[in-house]
Amino acid sequence: MKLDTLCVHGARRPDITGALTTPIYQTSTFAHPGVGRSTGYDYSRSQNPTREQIERRLAALEGGSGALAFTSGMAAATALVELLKPGDRIIASEDLYGGTTRLFDRVSQKNGIATDYVDTSDLQALRAVMRPETRMIFIETPSNPMMRVTDIRAAAEIAHSGGALLAVDNTFLTPYYCRPIELGADIVLHSGTKYLGGHNDTLAGFLVAAKPEFEEALRFIQKTTGAGLSPFDSFLIERGVKTLALRMDRASASALTIARALERHPRVKSVHYVGLETHPGYELSKRQTDGFGAMISFEVDSPDTACAVLEGVKLVMYAESLGGVESLITYPLLQTHADVPEEKRLALGITDRLLRLSVGVENCGDILADLENALESAPSR
Ligand SMILES: *Cc1c(COP(=O)(O)O)cnc(C)c1O
Repeated sequence: MKLDTLCVHGARRPDITGALTTPIYQTSTFAHPGVGRSTGYDYSRSQNPTREQIERRLAALEGGSGALAFTSGMAAATALVELLKPGDRIIASEDLYGGTTRLFDRVSQKNGIATDYVDTSDLQALRAVMRPETRMIFIETPSNPMMRVTDIRAAAEIAHSGGALLAVDNTFLTPYYCRPIELGADIVLHSGTKYLGGHNDTLAGFLVAAKPEFEEALRFIQKTTGAGLSPFDSFLIERGVKTLALRMDRASASALTIARALERHPRVKSVHYVGLETHPGYELSKRQTDGFGAMISFEVDSPDTACAVLEGVKLVMYAESLGGVESLITYPLLQTHADVPEEKRLALGITDRLLRLSVGVENCGDILADLENALESAPSR
C-alpha cells in the first residue's frame, strides 16, 4: 500500500459492529475474565484500545516494529532519554526545537546525561564529537528554525559504528515525506501536535521503534512514567492522520510558491526553505525525502519590520506551533528559542529579524497577499 492509502486505512482492525472509526474506549480499567487472565487490556496507563490503534497506524506509516503514543512531543522525548543512564552522552543537532534543548540542558544534564551540540549536517563535525560514552545521536531534520538538512543514512552509520542509537525528530516532514527507519534510524520521534494531528487542537507525541527490543524498553518506561496518550486525544490524532497526505501536499506546494515570492521581496533579506534549489540541503533532501514540507524561515530587513509583520498579518496567525490547517507565524527569538542562550542563538542565526512561517492549507494567494500586506505596513527605513 502507498503512504497516502496507509494514512487513511493504516493498520485498521475490523470491529464487530462494522464501525469505520476507532471507538473511544473512555475507561481507565478493564475487567479480567478469570484469575490470571486478561483481555489483553488491564489498565489504560499500560494500554488502551484507542491508543493502540493510533500506535499501530504510526508504526505502519514509519515502517517501524511498533509505536508508542504520548501526551505530548516533549513527553515522548523525556521517555526517549530514559533509555540512557548517568554517564552516557547525547550528541544533538545544534539548532533543535527549543523545548528539546531545554530538556537536554536543564533536566537530562542534572540526571548525569550530558549533551554535545554540533551541526549534524556537517558529517565530519559529527564524527569528531563522538566519544566512547556517546549512546545516542539525536537529529532534527530539517532543523528548527534554520532548516539545516542532515544525512540520515550517514548519521545512522556514524551512530552505529560507535555503539550508539540514532533518534530522528521527524515532526517537520512526517512519514508521508520521510521515513528515517528505512534509512537506518533506530527511533523516530514526533510531536503529533503538529502535522499528524494537523488541526491545532490536540497535544500528542510519538516514538516509533525500528526493532521490538527498543519498543519493549520504551513500553516499560511509558507504563512506569505514565504519559500515555488519552483515548479521546488518540481518536483525534487518528482522525488527523487520515488527511495527512492531502494536507502535506497542499501546504508544501504553497510553501514553495510563498518561499519564491518572499525571496524576491525587497524587505526580505534571506529565505530558508529546503525546497529552494539554492538551499544547501536541497540535493540531499531530494535523495532522502519525498517532499520538502511547509516550514519556512526568513529574515527581514530590521527588527521593526519583523514586529510589523507579526502585528500586521490578519489571516496568518501570530502563534506558536506549526503543522496545522491554519498558517502560523512565530518569532523564534521570543517563542520557540527564548530559552536558548543569546550567544548560541546568534551563532545559529536566530536573530531579532528572523521569522518562522508554518504554511497552512488556505488559498496560497490569500496567504501570500496577507504576508505582503504586513511587510508593506512596516515603516520604511
Ligand atoms: C513542537 C515540537 C516538539 C515538542 O512537541 P510538543 O507536542 O509541543 O510537546 C518537538 N520537536 C519539534 C520539531 C517540534 O516542532
